[in-house]
Amino acid sequence: VKDLDMIAKLESGMKLEQNTFNIVKTASDVFDLLELKASKKNIAIGFQEPYDFPIPVKADQEKIEQVLINLLSNSIKYGKINGSTLVNIHTHSSHRIVIDVIDDGIGIDKTNLPRLFERFYRVDKSRSRVQGGSGLGLAIVKHIIEAHDQEVFVKSTLGKGSTFSFTLNKSI
Ligand code: ATP
Ligand code: MG
Repeated sequence: VKDLDMIAKLESGMKLEQNTFNIVKTASDVFDLLELKASKKNIAIGFQEPYDFPIPVKADQEKIEQVLINLLSNSIKYGKINGSTLVNIHTHSSHRIVIDVIDDGIGIDKTNLPRLFERFYRVDKSRSRVQGGSGLGLAIVKHIIEAHDQEVFVKSTLGKGSTFSFTLNKSI
């Protein structure tokens, strides 16, 4: 219900806050939040490389935290035991960065990739029923990122893993 509420609000043009915040700190907070869930499958979550400096971005902080929660939750949910989820932040252009969420989980067949961000879309109906969830996580991610005039994309190989990436504006 909370998820549907979020979709409805985003579709009716919810107003975004314009915060300047350190995306390194936000991602670290999300790692802490999901640590217990990850440890149950012995999945390591963290940065691919350490960031000893802040990376300031301009966006709605709460909503970007939601994006990271949805993507990282999926990487754990569809991750393999003893696997890993790595986050990588890199420069996209003079005014943009890209955040990659890289997992070595079950992966997604390429026939399913085009519809992945549709609401209620789930790859394997029977498996998804076992996993639980409503199929709204990625639809919310897409709405939030597009409301920011940014981009989200996915690369995946069945059996090998997936990388979900999104862009954000740097704060200059
Ligand atoms: P909810 O997020 O609402 O709890 P959900 O996780 O099934 O449910 P989405 O987050 O929208 O829904 O994801 C849609 C589908 O995409 C999932 O059901 C799953 O099949 C697939 N998927 C998403 N992320 C990954 C991933 N990292 N690895 C493999 N499959 C994924
Ligand atoms: Mg999900």
